[in-house]
Amino acid sequence: MSKQKIYLDHAATTPMSAEVFEKMKPFFSDTFGNPSAVYAEGRRAKAAVETAREQAARSLNAKPEEIYFTSGGSESDNWAIKGIAFSLQDKGRHIITTAIEHPAVLNTCHFLEKLGYEITYLPVDPCGLVSVQTLQNAIREDTILVSIMMANNEIGTIEPIKALAETAHENGVLFHTDAVQAFGNVPIDVTDLGVDMLSLSGHKFYGPKGTGILFCRQGVKLESLIHGGKQESGVRAGTENTAGIVGIGEACECAVKQLSENCIHERELTQFLIDQLTKIPGIYLTGHPDLRLPGNASFYFEDIHSEALMTALDLDGIEVSGGSACTAGSINPSHVLKAIGLNDEQARNALRLTVGRENTLDEMKQTVLSIQNIIERMQ
Ligand SMILES: *Cc1c(COP(=O)(O)O)cnc(C)c1O
Repeated sequence: MSKQKIYLDHAATTPMSAEVFEKMKPFFSDTFGNPSAVYAEGRRAKAAVETAREQAARSLNAKPEEIYFTSGGSESDNWAIKGIAFSLQDKGRHIITTAIEHPAVLNTCHFLEKLGYEITYLPVDPCGLVSVQTLQNAIREDTILVSIMMANNEIGTIEPIKALAETAHENGVLFHTDAVQAFGNVPIDVTDLGVDMLSLSGHKFYGPKGTGILFCRQGVKLESLIHGGKQESGVRAGTENTAGIVGIGEACECAVKQLSENCIHERELTQFLIDQLTKIPGIYLTGHPDLRLPGNASFYFEDIHSEALMTALDLDGIEVSGGSACTAGSINPSHVLKAIGLNDEQARNALRLTVGRENTLDEMKQTVLSIQNIIERMQ
């Protein structure tokens, strides 16, 4: 008999919620019309897209005209960074980001370096925090954009985005944040935060894969990456992914409704994991002790091989990850763990447990037991 699985990799992706799936279903069958069409079927699809835009806008305290639907977090990050790089290239060609960003930001910046842009990768402290002073010192006359993630996908550290955005603005520089990990786990109000652009990914908050949002403040001129038809106010071409858009809109609304309950639940579970696992000799917490995502429990090991541990956990039906999904399978040590000061060996031996709303305390107890047993066997 197969064991019940315990899924602890919500930072990689979340299961789509039943409510979201129900809302999407008609748009795969009956309501298939092109939202740009004039007849009733098309108008129904169009109305559904605009309802989703309003749901997304409400969930961020933005205006519907400031919400653009994309194919995911990666596209939103690419668009924000390249879009500003291209539209402001005559003003300057210097961009500031951090050493701990997701590859969707880092590799976009590496691409721009090949085109002649200069990028500053800000360091972080041992807890993964970016300091306002470090940002202030890095801003130059030709800086056009600052892009700093709201919460890190590996270690869960939450950055002081409001203060960082303020610093950028005091110097006349635009500010983008990758809030893919934060949304649904941290309250987000774009008006209060003062950010100019913000990226979201549907599948990280119980919505469909292949859907994303870019919030772009009215008045910020962003060059298009996808040229063609007049969809998304003429700045992002292509027939809308109606079902996906309906799904991410609904997922936005659910995420905000369940935010506080979700946070309390996740915090209780991760606190248990952190308390129990750091009792084991050779296991250390990574990231900030308090300023961290409620669902993130991440560790590094001294003298324990995380690959072997993860394989053994998989046999017990427990699904976890090393650094992040995007570095899984690669033998390279995590760039995030290196940036917080771990050596190669430590940075290779990472374990990330990310919990979600469907996890239970009982599952955490089983996970801790399983890890204890595996480590004993390994020694
Ligand atoms: C998952 C993730 C992305 C990429 O989102 P996709 O929708 O999978 O393209 C970007 N940034 C962060 C921080 C992420 O965790």
